[in-house]
Amino acid sequence: MTYLSHLRCSRCDKKYEANQVQTFCQTCQAPLLSCYDLAAARKHLDRGAFQTRQSGMWRWHELLPVFNLHSAISLGEGDTPLLLLRQIGTQYGLTNLFIKDESFNPTGSFKARGLSAAVSKAKELGIRKLIIPTAGNAGGALAAYAARAGLKATIVMPKDTPPSNIEESKIAGARVVLVDGLISDAAKFAGKMAQEEGWYDVSTFKEPYRTEGKKIMGFELAEAFNWILPNVIVYPTGGGTGLIGMWKAFAELQELGWLESSHRPRMIAVQASGCAPVVKAFMSGASSCEFWLNANTIAAGLRVPKSFADREILHDLKESNGTAIEVDDKEIVSAQNILASSEGIFAAPEGAATLAGLIKLVGRNEIHPDEKVVLFNTATGLKYLDHRYVS
Ligand SMILES: *Cc1c(COP(=O)(O)O)cnc(C)c1O
Ligand SMILES: [Zn+2]
Repeated sequence: MTYLSHLRCSRCDKKYEANQVQTFCQTCQAPLLSCYDLAAARKHLDRGAFQTRQSGMWRWHELLPVFNLHSAISLGEGDTPLLLLRQIGTQYGLTNLFIKDESFNPTGSFKARGLSAAVSKAKELGIRKLIIPTAGNAGGALAAYAARAGLKATIVMPKDTPPSNIEESKIAGARVVLVDGLISDAAKFAGKMAQEEGWYDVSTFKEPYRTEGKKIMGFELAEAFNWILPNVIVYPTGGGTGLIGMWKAFAELQELGWLESSHRPRMIAVQASGCAPVVKAFMSGASSCEFWLNANTIAAGLRVPKSFADREILHDLKESNGTAIEVDDKEIVSAQNILASSEGIFAAPEGAATLAGLIKLVGRNEIHPDEKVVLFNTATGLKYLDHRYVS
């Protein structure tokens, strides 16, 4: 049983029913977030009990959005390794440097978490046709979960998306539409198909539940660190699903009374120099992002010129006392080499970007040597082989 009670607009707080199909707040054009009856959950749930359940994201089902656990469409997502980076930590003077290795998820990226939640909920609500504009990995994940759920999927992506994303979508039986442009152009196409042909648009934050799947990364971190949150989380930010999801998770954990300490991590958004709308806005103190023109980076998942949840990303970064930082493609490739050669982790460029960002922050003395720092490797480097570049 879930404690989900309703949805609310992240900007105007308007309430929306959770037992009907929803998209985003029509008044504000802003994301809807899931609200749970946390007071009741606090009474009935014991944080220690989750550890004894079968591993994976759905062991937290009371705090996920499906009404019936039988609705969950799972491929084994979640409970990814949290690894101490001993060598790199020593090299940069950090004693508590970790990486959450999300490459272990089905389809090789953390998009699996969000799409598992979204497809499960869509099926439960009777939706049959799903469409997604994607920079790559979300398409592959939707195709896989839709196949498992027996639903139709259309994936719209830039024609220069990594070939692995195109292939994994096709083989799962999805219709793949390649557009001459960026994810923002794919989004326009998907929006049109949604209106004209009744496809349900699972674009980042245009449906409420992908962020709930990614929220569980925050739960897993809290549990792994014995309910004391780390000091710093470095997150490669595109649409911001995981960043917003984890920040939401920490608030929920607090309300559940499960945290041993009220301190929250500083959230650090890392973006690529060739597409850094969040960094630009954060540095200028703006509360929303400008559309980034001519976005270009090898980190395909970060090629998002403007997130639909730009205001929420900036709000959460500020609230966490965090920051935003950009790294260029050369720094990303160099960090990829460091991760692979000194720790054995072949990270996606987006994941490596978090190490590149951390190296810069250490250089600016923004990280204390003893702080618990968590990097996120959001996908496996193996998905980008045909997309590679000489180092
Ligand atoms: C989508 C994606 C990101 C960005 O994630 P958001 O939660 O949308 O900000 C980062 N890395 C990879 C590999 C991705 O596929
Ligand atoms: Zn609203």
